[in-house]
Amino acid sequence: MTVLALPARPRALIFDLDSTLYTDTAYARFQTEVLVARLATTRGESVAATEAALARLRAERAASGSGATSLGNLFAALGVPIEESVRWREELIEPADWLKPDARLDAALAALGRDYRLALVTNNPRSVGEKSLAALGVRSHFPLIIGLDDTMRSKPDPRPFAYAAERLGLEARDCVSVGDREDVDLVPALELGMGAILVAGVAEVYELDVILKSARG
Ligand SMILES: [Mg+2]
Repeated sequence: MTVLALPARPRALIFDLDSTLYTDTAYARFQTEVLVARLATTRGESVAATEAALARLRAERAASGSGATSLGNLFAALGVPIEESVRWREELIEPADWLKPDARLDAALAALGRDYRLALVTNNPRSVGEKSLAALGVRSHFPLIIGLDDTMRSKPDPRPFAYAAERLGLEARDCVSVGDREDVDLVPALELGMGAILVAGVAEVYELDVILKSARG
């Protein structure tokens, strides 16, 4: 866990979902593969050809000094509107097929929920976020879930983070973003003035309450 920035008195924690609230590389890979396969079908080409097109885009971004971006933004660059990405994800991703209740996460979020308001900001549609939290057995801890379809902007666009703060009725400086990808989950939050904590997976979320309590002294 790396605490990149922490406000003096944080009031809300804004969590990423995938590889933050659960760690399952097979599920993460499945989500990418199923969406790339759908894109290949739409483009009338092989999966390998679509993967090559995505690799070219990533290389161009790297060469121009742009940071990493989301799959949704790469798809948009290949002509798939975000609205279409939302529909594909709703159709193709069934969290309950992959995720099971996590009692340690439940306990960790219950403890955090006593000191902070908890929100989810995911690049999946809100319905997929809700189903994921339900499958993990932690839905009740999250009064606010912001999905891709709420702002039609995909992290690292800062708008989903700004919208979360607005919906919480808080200033950015009152919020801390918690996620597994620095470029996507943390840099845009930091640019808004939020705190930011990098986690390597859900095991570090189990420890977050202790880390925050010790950081606050
Ligand atoms: Mg993630």
